[in-house]
Amino acid sequence: MNELKKKLKKGLLITFEGIDGSGKTTILNKIKNNNIIKSLDPVYTSEPSKLFYTYNILKSFFYSKNNDPIEELFLFMANHAKHINNIIKPHIQKRDIIFCDRYIDSRCAYQGATLNGIIPNPINFISSIHNIWSIKPNLTFFIDINVETSIKRCNMRIKNTKFENKKFLDLVNINFKKIIESDPKRFIILDGKQSINNLEEIIVSKILNMLKNN
Ligand code: ADP
Repeated sequence: MNELKKKLKKGLLITFEGIDGSGKTTILNKIKNNNIIKSLDPVYTSEPSKLFYTYNILKSFFYSKNNDPIEELFLFMANHAKHINNIIKPHIQKRDIIFCDRYIDSRCAYQGATLNGIIPNPINFISSIHNIWSIKPNLTFFIDINVETSIKRCNMRIKNTKFENKKFLDLVNINFKKIIESDPKRFIILDGKQSINNLEEIIVSKILNMLKNN
């Protein structure tokens, strides 16, 4: 086992955030094959998690524009609760390193956008319903791309979700920036237009730094 991992007193939760098409899945697939990362034997997970029954309901919501946004938020929350109890908490206790593709910040940014104009201060509300019982990430990589690039990349996919349109993603991107401003020390902002190899190099070095200073 990696010496740096051995020294960990408890697990670490590292999350990857950004709008659709920013490259989260691509970079996570890339670092899965990186030898340094492999030596840390991390756990890979994502939100919403496909492992729980709420995922199938959520998935149907992704392609339908007529859902109640409050209902949708609480389905995401139900999925998160199960994810915390079944995956995140047990691995933190086992002193594992967890990589998670989307997490609380995505909920604040996306549902913050679907609830815009419906409730006052949606980001604060969503953030507040996680407090006390949820687990905050130790570090978050925010992969930053502009909405035009995001839409271009998403249009290459077979089926687009309701979220993948310019007006909506503009608002999501603004929400992400507000979230980062409210907790800047947790975030590492990466330019998502650079090559995957560059992104891999930066991410691995930041993770090693974090482990050395732990
Ligand atoms: P996300 O998981 O954030 O929605 P993906 O990883 O699925 O995004 O990437 C969306 C598309 O953009 C994919 O076709 C992927 O190959 C491409 N892509 C991702 N990162 C980069 C990059 N750094 N440079 C060029 N293309 C990229």
